[in-house]
Amino acid sequence: MADTHTKKIVVLGAGESGVGAARLAKNKGFEVFVSDIGTIQDKYETQLDQEEIHFEEGKHTEDFILDAHEIIKSPGIPNTVPILLKAQQNNIPIISEIEFGARYTQAKIVAITGSNGKTTTTLLTYHVLQAAGYNVGVGGNMGKSFCGQLADGVDHDYWVLEVSSFQLEHCFEFRPDVALILNITPDHLDRYENNFQIYINTKFRITQNLDKDQAFIYYKDNPAISRELRKRAIPTQYYPVSTQEVIDNGAYLKDDELHFYVKKNKRAFTLSQEDLNLKGKHNMINIMSSVLTCMNLDVPDDILKTYFKTFKGVEHRLEEVADIAGIRFINDSKATNVDSVYYALDSFDEKIIWIAGGVDKGNDYEKIRDLVKQKVKFLICLGKDNTKIFNTFRDSVQIIYQTDNMRDAVEQSFELARSGDIVLLSPACASFDLFENFEDRGKAFKKSVAKLTKLANLKKR
Ligand code: ADP
Repeated sequence: MADTHTKKIVVLGAGESGVGAARLAKNKGFEVFVSDIGTIQDKYETQLDQEEIHFEEGKHTEDFILDAHEIIKSPGIPNTVPILLKAQQNNIPIISEIEFGARYTQAKIVAITGSNGKTTTTLLTYHVLQAAGYNVGVGGNMGKSFCGQLADGVDHDYWVLEVSSFQLEHCFEFRPDVALILNITPDHLDRYENNFQIYINTKFRITQNLDKDQAFIYYKDNPAISRELRKRAIPTQYYPVSTQEVIDNGAYLKDDELHFYVKKNKRAFTLSQEDLNLKGKHNMINIMSSVLTCMNLDVPDDILKTYFKTFKGVEHRLEEVADIAGIRFINDSKATNVDSVYYALDSFDEKIIWIAGGVDKGNDYEKIRDLVKQKVKFLICLGKDNTKIFNTFRDSVQIIYQTDNMRDAVEQSFELARSGDIVLLSPACASFDLFENFEDRGKAFKKSVAKLTKLANLKKR
């Protein structure tokens, strides 16, 4: 690229993606400045120091920032912060880390978005492509950042990227070879002026540069997606996924079998649901989307047959933790919205002791009210303020307990459960009232369950 040395890139936010982007930009010869309004973690400060990248923390110095040719914005920063509004007034392009990184790889890119299921589908697809012997990397909204890996000189022939709506907001030229939208349900609406359509438009940015050589895989039965597709004509190859109807160029679920057909190479394939480790209808949608991706990338049938079966799932997503005296404990701490709880409750035939609550992101619980009535034996509210969830379900379910302590929640669940029941942590809420993040909450659950296991074993002796 010509005269990059004279070009100045400012990176806002010095977390995993921001520091990765800064390092890649430096690597490519730009003049780089990083600005974070908060405190930068030591490990990231060290990385910036090592690469001699200038940075500031605790402030945004306007003179430096508004002097940029381009700004790379970290996904956590809302568009409404004053410095970004000023940058817009000054016509400084604001891009995401994904947009920036994609300029520096020739790889085929699989980009996965959706309100739920991104991480599961990303890791599943990565698992199968790797098993097929492809030179493949994984990144995006998870683990090591995409740009950080490119900065380390790690490029691949294929990348599987988890892409959040916050990253898509600032994608313009980004063109994945295979784009997936798993579902769109209300989430993060606080970031989108409480306007669902703005959130839908943002998710659809993943399709904005698709053409006849790319593939678009989507869940057809999702009302928001199908409604939106009626309004748009995307000039690409469509591969719908359905759990309700037969699809002739895509995938569908019927009588416990997953069926696939890709017209362009006349390739048909089937998988039996009972052979798969992942359970639940939502995971069948994830698997169908992932298989279609792999078929588009020419992964042979024998690999598909073997490796979709061996994927065990991801921690904190309907994770089987323990079976104590016939009571199964399931950690679904990542379920931070109502849709993911719907699928969690729907995944079990057993009666459920449901642990839920935390920081409500504007939840509308109507979608799960009937399911809760039908399946939930007891509700344990776990949060600093349980008023909303308590009031919502007080008439549909026996609410036995309110607590702000995980150990207490788990012990109470065990007291109430009978052999054959499920204890399910699937909170429908964010975790920040009591925990650092959803991982911390899931770990606290597992720790408390482990204590119960220990006690149960001692009693047996
Ligand atoms: P994301 O990365 O989009 O947050 P995850 O794979 O981490 O998605 O899963 C988040 C939560 O959503 C978990 O509780 C999981 O069980 C649930 N989930 C996974 N896939 C789907 C899907 N296709 N539809 C609805 N919920 C899902």
